[in-house]
Amino acid sequence: MDGALVGRRYESSAAAVDSTDLPAEKHEYQAEVNRLMDLIVHSLYSNKEVFLRELVSNASDALDKLRYLSVTDPELLKDGPQLDIRIQTDKDNGIITITDSGIGMTKQELIDSLGTIASSGTAKFLKALKESQEAGMDSNLIGQFGVGFYSAFLVSEKVVVSTKSPKSDKQYVWEGVADSGSYTIREEKYPEKLIPRGTRLTLYLKRDDKGFAHPERIQKLLKNYSQFVSFPIYTWQEKG
Ligand code: ADP
Ligand code: MG
Repeated sequence: MDGALVGRRYESSAAAVDSTDLPAEKHEYQAEVNRLMDLIVHSLYSNKEVFLRELVSNASDALDKLRYLSVTDPELLKDGPQLDIRIQTDKDNGIITITDSGIGMTKQELIDSLGTIASSGTAKFLKALKESQEAGMDSNLIGQFGVGFYSAFLVSEKVVVSTKSPKSDKQYVWEGVADSGSYTIREEKYPEKLIPRGTRLTLYLKRDDKGFAHPERIQKLLKNYSQFVSFPIYTWQEKG
């Protein structure tokens, strides 16, 4: 993916970050995650649009967690009181960016959450899959159990997660590419990429799925799947 294609206003340095020689640690996925990723990437599951519901629900969970913890620890909101979700689409380049100002993740939390099976829903999915023992069943199970964060790979060839926990003074970047078996983690170095707190996911859509990077499409999906999210969700289109 050519990072230079990334939109100008907001993501201007994504190209530099994505193609730079900054040291990035390589991590292997847990075996179950590899299996899951393989299924997701190669499934013929037609209801791919559930990816947005899963990612918005993670953003909402992260905001809920922050709001809850900040009741007893108001310091957690020191980087700003706003609790919201912002979804930016860049239709020319097929990129969706989902940013929340929630609890974020420390480096260790990134490794624990996005390299292993952290979600009970995802674990149930794998269990059901094992029990079904039927190749043709895979695609139905994705919708039935939800595959959480990894559903980003239903539509993306590359996913970049940049995240800042209020517990850490550093922002970390997780990067995963479909079919690679491993992911990398590095520190966010570029000042213009820093966020005060929370998580930003950048989805580099697969060629056939670039149509999701339209504000109208996103708004329709939000209406269908995410109408009960209790935080404001803003959407806008990257200017060409
Ligand atoms: P689940 O949401 O069921 O726990 P997911 O696969 O959707 O499973 O997410 C795995 C974990 O990754 C979450 O439990 C959370 O710890 C972490 N995570 C995912 N997205 C975010 C986010 N936007 N902000 C903070 N943590 C996140
Ligand atoms: Mg989830």
